[in-house]
Amino acid sequence: MTDVVSRHADVVIIGGGLSGTLLAVQLLRQSHARRIVIIEPRPELGRGEAYSATELGHTLNGNAARMSVDPGNADDLTEWLTRFIDDGGWPQSAEQSLPVAELFPPRGIFGLYAQQRLAEARAAGARYGATAEHVRAQAIDLQTHAEQVEITLDNGQVWYGRQAVLATGMFPAARTALKAPGGLNAGAVDPWDVQAMRGLDRQARVLIIGSGLTMVDAVVSLDQAGHRGPITVISRHGLWPHVRRQPPSWPDFLAAADNVRSPRQLMAEVRKQCRQALQQGVDWQAPLDTVRVHIARLWSQASERQKRQFVRHVRPWWESHHHRSPPPSDALVQRLIREGRLTLQAASYQRADGTTLTIRRRGESTSVQLQGDALINSSGIEYDWRRVDKPLPRQLLARGLIRPGPLALGIEADVDGAVLDAQGLVAERLFAMGPPLRGMWWESTAVTDVAAQAKRLATTLLSRC
Ligand SMILES: Cc1cc2nc3c(=O)[nH]c(=O)nc-3n(C[C@H](O)[C@H](O)[C@H](O)COP(=O)(O)OP(=O)(O)OC[C@H]3O[C@@H](n4cnc5c(N)ncnc54)[C@H](O)[C@@H]3O)c2cc1C
Repeated sequence: MTDVVSRHADVVIIGGGLSGTLLAVQLLRQSHARRIVIIEPRPELGRGEAYSATELGHTLNGNAARMSVDPGNADDLTEWLTRFIDDGGWPQSAEQSLPVAELFPPRGIFGLYAQQRLAEARAAGARYGATAEHVRAQAIDLQTHAEQVEITLDNGQVWYGRQAVLATGMFPAARTALKAPGGLNAGAVDPWDVQAMRGLDRQARVLIIGSGLTMVDAVVSLDQAGHRGPITVISRHGLWPHVRRQPPSWPDFLAAADNVRSPRQLMAEVRKQCRQALQQGVDWQAPLDTVRVHIARLWSQASERQKRQFVRHVRPWWESHHHRSPPPSDALVQRLIREGRLTLQAASYQRADGTTLTIRRRGESTSVQLQGDALINSSGIEYDWRRVDKPLPRQLLARGLIRPGPLALGIEADVDGAVLDAQGLVAERLFAMGPPLRGMWWESTAVTDVAAQAKRLATTLLSRC
């Protein structure tokens, strides 16, 4: 009995990446005694995939001024980083000769920042009896009852929470899909496996599928590993990510734009504003960055047909123009392009046979084969939980406790983050945040998205407990 009682918490957070950690921070900051438990198999909280990076060249894609985890203080990361650098924490930053606010910190260092904010929140919470414990395990099943949520872990433990939150993050396509023999991932190198990159022949012909920021990470790791051979990137639309600059501010043209009701109208308006900016000698990134704050509203107001149109026609453009590359990584990419070592083919992937790829180039009707010595799958994230081969998503779907979100991107929830079951009923005690809500808000992944969600969700959980 004692054992069971000790496994009761007020809030059980499943996933201790950035989302789960920031939620714990926000809960601990509210002055209430509360037991929070974070279920996370990784040894450290606050890191997840993104901030476990060990490569210094794997940086944030925004500068410190844009990446605060405190929605109430935009300078929070800059202030923390200033002290960290003053204490000798990141000596290489001096090479960039930039003010701290303009630096693009390595993601591993950003993980330390999130951890320190958690440590401070734990200390604050301890003053009134609030705790946040890390249980190192994977949640493999979940059931909801009238008074509590029951969570089964892969170590055999069962935890009970008055409320539970799915903060399970992203499922990289490189790990979740096509694992079967003969499938793409069977012979592919994980894009974030720095050791595997070091194991490659320096002259290996490397084929990379996908041209987003994961590809940029892979190119950085290859370079750091001493690779000097040719790298061929295959992507359906043949677009490189743009580099992130620091554009000036631009009038918020969408705030009062009641003529923008569809993806087509949005694109037309954005193009018009970008043209105007360029005519005035202003960077096109300035108007584009004003779209960001409206994207969740525009997406959630759009009809299913409009969402499909957006994904089909605007998404590739949005990904390459909005999810921009940090300048240091972009400089490397540009150099390799100039040297002829990095090339891009606009083509769709059809088959992989070991490291031989069958592709069809854009505009052509016949397939061709590309022979490489190594293959890297950086085709992004699997958002459709029905295709994620992991116990918890499988069980939640099988029990009818969740249902796919719009366009099968993640799972469905109400505006407060309470998940909807297979019948569309809103859960009383089960919530989600971050990447699982991609279909609800379109952008539900970046640091600032999850930081804002953590704050709102903490308030919701408190008001409903
Ligand atoms: C490589 C990479 C780089 C990125 N760079 C940036 C950037 O520069 N700027 C930016 O704004 N955003 C960036 N992002 C987006 C980034 O994902 C988010 O900022 C943030 O990491 C999302 O945090 P999360 O906790 O929701 O997800 P994740 O970081 O994916 O963490 C989820 C955690 O849940 C755990 N988990 C999953 N299932 C279970 C289970 N069943 N039981 C227990 N634990 C479970 C996992 O182990 C993981 O640690 C990047 C993402 C990636 C993948």
